[in-house]
Amino acid sequence: MRRHDRRTGERGMNDDLNDWRALLPAASSRLAGKVALVAGGGSSGPGWSIGKACCATLARHGASVCVLDASLDAARDALDAVQALGGQGMALQADVADAEAMRQAVHAVMQRHGRLDILQANAGIGKVGGPEEIDMADWERIQKVNVDSLLVASRLVLPIMREQGGGAIVAVSSVAGLRYLGYPHLAYNVTKAAVIHFARMIAQQYAAHGIRANTVVPGLIDTPRVRHTVARMFSADDFDQARAARDRQVPMGRMGTPWEVANAVAFLASDEAAYITGTELVVDGGLIGKYA
Ligand code: NAP
Repeated sequence: MRRHDRRTGERGMNDDLNDWRALLPAASSRLAGKVALVAGGGSSGPGWSIGKACCATLARHGASVCVLDASLDAARDALDAVQALGGQGMALQADVADAEAMRQAVHAVMQRHGRLDILQANAGIGKVGGPEEIDMADWERIQKVNVDSLLVASRLVLPIMREQGGGAIVAVSSVAGLRYLGYPHLAYNVTKAAVIHFARMIAQQYAAHGIRANTVVPGLIDTPRVRHTVARMFSADDFDQARAARDRQVPMGRMGTPWEVANAVAFLASDEAAYITGTELVVDGGLIGKYA
């Protein structure tokens, strides 16, 4: 199995996949025969991001999983996890904001699998700051990756799903798209709000074609990206304190795991959610209730 840490050279969490099997849902066939494209399905560091956990979870339920990431190495790492669980799929490199690269990626999925049933729009970036702090260039890049990418992907997959007679789009937003969480993160908050509304609009327009569009709204989730950001901001001693403080923010007393988000994604992608469209599934341990 391939292992990576593109930034630090650390071993990947796939080395310990057996430990993580305990966190996976029981294997099922609820997504058997379906082909999923997880855009932003890699991990920004060793361990399990939301996208990578989604790739493994979708495979666990029988889907073929096409992992797309800005880094081919990261996409391959997630595909390794899929294959280690007995699943199949492919790894694709593309920037989700690049329309031509995404066209080629979707074309490659169709060449290989001949269908596309599930799109998970998972890639998301942000930068701390309010209106007076954020650079226009950062604002525009965040808008491109978090929102324009949905337009790019939708224009590619909707005709395929319509032709097939149905499909499921699961966008990934954040509680930051619904509430101010106590610090300025304007571009992220605004674009994550747009993600929710984008999915609602698609849901209405395409309901009659059997295409569902929903959004998963994670709260504070313990991922490599978050660990990396916290580690950069705090010393080793303070790092544990910072993580503990993040845990304490949540009514349930802990951050969520990427697996808990992945279970929500798999549900919305499955036929068990056949009558659910245009809505949001919040996965936050009760966090959002504090900011109601
Ligand atoms: P992550 O580790 O950064 O995973 C996302 C993957 O997407 C990374 O491999 C990343 O690559 C890739 N990516 C970033 N920009 C891309 C682009 N333009 N094109 C293709 N791939 C790209 O993030 P995560 O923490 O698991 O978060 C996943 C999603 O959940 C994001 O949308 C995030 O906003 C949302 N979310 C996370 C949390 C949380 O607490 N972690 C909470 C709420 C919502 P690079 O490493 O190269 O950037």
